[in-house]
Amino acid sequence: MDNLDIATREGSVTTVPGAAVEALAGGVRGELLLPGSPGYDTARDIWNGMINRRPGIILRCAGTSDVVAAVRFARAHDLLVAVKGGGHNVAGNAVCDGGLMIDLTEMRGVHVDPMARRARAQGGATWGDFDAETQLYGLSTTGGLISSTGVAGLTLGGGIGWLARSHGLACDNLISVDLVTADGDILTASETENSELFWGLKGGGGNFGVATSFEFQVHPVGPEVFGGMVIYPLEQARDCLTRFRELMAGAPDRLAGMAAMGTAPDGQKAVILFAVYNGDPKEGEALVRPLREMGAPILDAMGVTPYRVIQTLIDASMPHGRRYYFKSSFLDALPDDAIETVIGQRVKCPSPQSKIIIEFLGGAISRVPREATVFDHRQALHNLLIIGAWEDAATDEANRAWARETWEVMQPHASEGVYMNYLGTEADEGANRILAAYGPGKYDRLVALKTRYDPTNLFRMNQNIRPT
Ligand SMILES: Cc1cc2nc3c(=O)[nH]c(=O)nc-3n(C[C@H](O)[C@H](O)[C@H](O)COP(=O)(O)OP(=O)(O)OC[C@H]3O[C@@H](n4cnc5c(N)ncnc54)[C@H](O)[C@@H]3O)c2cc1C
Repeated sequence: MDNLDIATREGSVTTVPGAAVEALAGGVRGELLLPGSPGYDTARDIWNGMINRRPGIILRCAGTSDVVAAVRFARAHDLLVAVKGGGHNVAGNAVCDGGLMIDLTEMRGVHVDPMARRARAQGGATWGDFDAETQLYGLSTTGGLISSTGVAGLTLGGGIGWLARSHGLACDNLISVDLVTADGDILTASETENSELFWGLKGGGGNFGVATSFEFQVHPVGPEVFGGMVIYPLEQARDCLTRFRELMAGAPDRLAGMAAMGTAPDGQKAVILFAVYNGDPKEGEALVRPLREMGAPILDAMGVTPYRVIQTLIDASMPHGRRYYFKSSFLDALPDDAIETVIGQRVKCPSPQSKIIIEFLGGAISRVPREATVFDHRQALHNLLIIGAWEDAATDEANRAWARETWEVMQPHASEGVYMNYLGTEADEGANRILAAYGPGKYDRLVALKTRYDPTNLFRMNQNIRPT
């Protein structure tokens, strides 16, 4: 094999001897892909169609030993590294240009211990994989709303889902994480082992190493729950959102809610109300009835539904490969003028595929002590997510400008914080937004942890914490 020119950690290019690459390929169980290899383009493809990067080497890891080999190879040659879990992150951090991509998408095993109510997912598993295995036993834990999202990225950033008001964030349900560190060492982090690192993994993202498996506490869920969505014309959005706000203010933790200013299946501008009740479906039906009785809906798709189906409810509305751009903030409250503003912004939106989402938080999320995890925003009641989504590259600027403007006009209602998993690139958002995501009061502790476990900042393709 010829020598390869590969991007380094610091942004230059180094020549890696072909013999070294051959030795890596021969020593691992997974596949090593180079530009032009069959499967290379599939492996580098991620959810956000705006991202089109070409790694110099992709290692499709088959197990932890391959991850260790990849990390040691990167260290030996000082390579730029990206880690791909589910490949969903909007910033595109799962894939790098010119460097080494450690691809975990072949490591999707999930093992459930129903007696102990524990489940272990490998570092490339998706929430679809997780729910398929855990729901066999009528169990689950808080996971993402879209089934192709990675367990890894979502959990390492916090993890909001339909069960979060019942059982806390995904990271609140972690029992342990197996991690390959920047030295190529294998560690387990839990409350009793490497506990400071365990704290850092509950919201600190991919900064501290490659997580090869996650052990979760799981809870009885479903297998059928009451939930779904009801869609009204946008003209009714003011009334719908005020009533939804009132319903959620007095709702039990078992009720999850989310509203989207988007588009109905018939193409008209609409408000879409989502609710999921994690409990007796009859109780759920009674609780959400007010959402279904606000005049004539365009569509009422609420009913008794398998939890696994609920976990795919919005998959089709955010397909892989579209062009996407996110802006986000936590909101202290949802006053009437915030409601007016989001409705007005939906009217102005240049793309029918874009949405403005308001997630209702609270419940068990807010009862975890703030210091227990890196995730800091325990008292936020709402999460605002502006999703610019479109297909024509010629409209990139108009769509980004709309998302930015929507975010700007919502700032009077925003708290300081932002959900780390909804942030875009540091270049676009600015370093202060990363600080806002981690919480300024926790940043020094994170820097100390980063300096201990990754002093050369090998794992830098993330919402980066710089070591000292
Ligand atoms: C359509 C969509 C829906 C979403 N829905 C939700 C939701 O319901 N709830 C929610 O909380 N968030 C949600 N998110 C945000 C989501 O949590 C983040 O995008 C998250 O980073 C995705 O994880 P991933 O493994 O798919 O990401 P990737 O793109 O693979 O990786 C993202 C980051 O995590 C790091 N990483 C990935 N795997 C590992 C690993 N095994 N070890 C160490 N680091 C790793 C990567 O290096 C990268 O920095 C959603 C995002 C999208 C685009």
